[in-house]
Amino acid sequence: MAQPTGADQPVLETTARFHRFQVGKLICTSLSDGAIQVPLPPSPPAPGAAQTAATPDARPRFLYVPINCLAVQIPDTGQTVLIDSGFGLTPETLGKPMQSAGRLLESMQAAGLSADAVDVLLISHLDIDHVAGLYNADGTQVFPRATYYASAEAIAFWSKTDIDLSASPVLPWVKAERLLVSAHVLKHSAEHLTVFQAGDEVVPGITATPLPGHAPGQVGFVITSEDDTLLYTADAITHAVVSLATPHVYNPMDLEPDLAVTTRKDLLATLSESGWRSFSPHFPFPSWGRVQKEGDKLVWKPAE
Ligand SMILES: [Zn+2]
Repeated sequence: MAQPTGADQPVLETTARFHRFQVGKLICTSLSDGAIQVPLPPSPPAPGAAQTAATPDARPRFLYVPINCLAVQIPDTGQTVLIDSGFGLTPETLGKPMQSAGRLLESMQAAGLSADAVDVLLISHLDIDHVAGLYNADGTQVFPRATYYASAEAIAFWSKTDIDLSASPVLPWVKAERLLVSAHVLKHSAEHLTVFQAGDEVVPGITATPLPGHAPGQVGFVITSEDDTLLYTADAITHAVVSLATPHVYNPMDLEPDLAVTTRKDLLATLSESGWRSFSPHFPFPSWGRVQKEGDKLVWKPAE
């Protein structure tokens, strides 16, 4: 997700960082790509009391959105898998580069992982903050040895010549950005992109699972080793408090909001009942933890 540029847009200070943990035998590394601030629409006035200069809108004007990617090293096969690519270089053609994001390669370097080491690049969905790091400005792959994988449904949708997003209530600039970004990815990927079906075990121990609603063909990834499971949720849940406390509330970034709400509720039920850990790219670093029941509420327990 990118935001329109604005003269009053604050610039975030972010640094490269990583956090290592294990899922069974698999070595996982949370990698920060930085963060962005998304402008919030103004609050509506309270019922019966129009907002005046004397009662200014006290809400924050920007939503802080961390962006984190996940690397998975599989000792049995020697493979290194990277899930999503962050903002990356954000070519000028996709808008103004994000000064506070695009730090994935720095974080990988800090973690002892090189772009050359990545064998498999799994794409959860084709939003800018997940795929702008795939290609250099000249169209070559940022991860030169990697096979890039995306869901067949996502590629089929964005490959259509008559994409119609008019029925979606998503913000107009989000629609425009998604058209631009998907065209960018498809242009550079050409025949080099490998597709999978939701439900496929794409890599031994990593299975794509459908999470529709936020973006066409969005998938998560179920990562399993030795009875230990981590679910990469993509953007089916995007906020560690709001998504859990009010899963029924529309997210203005969800292209199909009703479907996204159903997916979000189902996902939260799965996580809270299974005991699986989860990794959500926009949750606070290091982005992994557990969704747990606390009374009649669901709460996020980071890094547990
Ligand atoms: Zn995102």
